[in-house]
Amino acid sequence: MKDHIRHARPHISRDEDLIFERSAPGKCGVDPLPLEVPSVSASELLGKEFHRAEIHGFPEVSELEVIRHFTRLSTWNYGVDTGLYPLGSCTMKYNPRINEVVARLEGLATDHPYTPPELAQGCLRILDETARCLAEITGMDAVSLQPAAGAQGELSGILMIRAFLAERGNPRRYILIPDSAHGTNPASVATSGYEVRPLKSGARGTIDLAEVDRAMTEEVAGLMLTNPNTLGIFEVQIREICNLVHQKGGLVYMDGANMNALLGIARPADFGADVMHLNLHKTFTTPHGGGGPGSGPVAVKKFLEPYLPSPTVERAADGTYRLNYNRPKSIGRVRAFYGNFGMAVRALAYIAANGGEGLLQTTQDAVLNANYVMRRLQDVYDLPYNGPCLHECVLSDHRQAARGVRTGDIAKRLIDYGFHPYTTSFPLIVQGALMIEPTESASMDELDEFIEAMRAIAEEIEEDPEFVLKAPHTTRVSRLDEATAARKPILRWKK
Ligand SMILES: *Cc1c(COP(=O)(O)O)cnc(C)c1O
Repeated sequence: MKDHIRHARPHISRDEDLIFERSAPGKCGVDPLPLEVPSVSASELLGKEFHRAEIHGFPEVSELEVIRHFTRLSTWNYGVDTGLYPLGSCTMKYNPRINEVVARLEGLATDHPYTPPELAQGCLRILDETARCLAEITGMDAVSLQPAAGAQGELSGILMIRAFLAERGNPRRYILIPDSAHGTNPASVATSGYEVRPLKSGARGTIDLAEVDRAMTEEVAGLMLTNPNTLGIFEVQIREICNLVHQKGGLVYMDGANMNALLGIARPADFGADVMHLNLHKTFTTPHGGGGPGSGPVAVKKFLEPYLPSPTVERAADGTYRLNYNRPKSIGRVRAFYGNFGMAVRALAYIAANGGEGLLQTTQDAVLNANYVMRRLQDVYDLPYNGPCLHECVLSDHRQAARGVRTGDIAKRLIDYGFHPYTTSFPLIVQGALMIEPTESASMDELDEFIEAMRAIAEEIEEDPEFVLKAPHTTRVSRLDEATAARKPILRWKK
């Protein structure tokens, strides 16, 4: 191994067996004392047909083996608590522990969704106050916390646009989407029964006003755009763009997954968006990865409020809260109960802990960090769109590709240096993209270590590209066949 691997360390046990392979007949974790009261067997309790006497191949291991096995596996994990997680577009911020303390308060953690509203006033108030904070942050008039993810917020928003236009006589056929968009955008549009019309980005990586003018016809229901876009660049002509769409009777959907770049600085409602979603699991520090749960509240201007998912939480004049199911124009329910309540609790805790000034500071720090990384890497990695970025920066593997090394290889080598890879090959408008989002959680020391690792990899590529092409060198397994893993996953262990 080369001596320039500085930060990488092997795992405690890199050859951990599967738990099944540790099994031996008769080994047992707990040996309970015989009962002093008459016992009822499971098959008596459930009925024979629902009870199996034996689970074929079930591992038999001791208590210590169980503890060691799972503790070792947990050390193979990489999370925001382990180190920098610069996955662009994903906003892997630190999840403050105060959020967890609040979410575990009795009542908040244990109230059942069927609790009658009279007995769940505190929980309803949390939903209402979270929605009010998000309305204030975005400038919008009404918010539903029901969607369970950003993509579901998008779907809800586009369905609302459809319901609104249909009621006025014609839902129209197309939605305009810039070619830099996140993949969920076209998917939400197609699921809502619209067709996508792509908008080509201009030379500066932003949308061209003339292009919107050309594409925006009376057949177009609206524009769906991310601002700042997936290059981390703010659409400076956003007001003019929104005006053009509105003049032709269309609506503007803003993908607000990147609100962590605007928080406390700009409000989408002020620059012309009619409907948008937010990702509580990105901008508002609720945990994500590993399959959720997420939360993608959808926020709208007043005229779209009747179409919001049902039920809505409403506050009566006497200060009590109720659930309103009687909303004839609503697009209906998009999620069981009231959405992922625990995420609203955590997001509200985060908003309250920071306050307006604190949230502004997080935005400024996130933007500063991304610009710092971009400027300190631009002499070794190509910068396709040179200009100040917001919360993330996008470089490319253009120079390294000449030596046969691509963005995915650089990302794999980063693992050896102890960092989670950045986002590779997205946005699609940048060939060989390296998309880096440090977030405000990273200290300058940590950013410097990351930058040093990225610069060291660039040097390695000059000296010995083959070595980087075989990375990672320090993990238990190295180059996996990712396509086969995704298409034909083996999810069950069989002897
Ligand atoms: C993350 C993201 C989404 C989708 O959000 P999910 O919660 O993963 O469904 C949509 N658009 C952009 C720009 C994103 O970064």
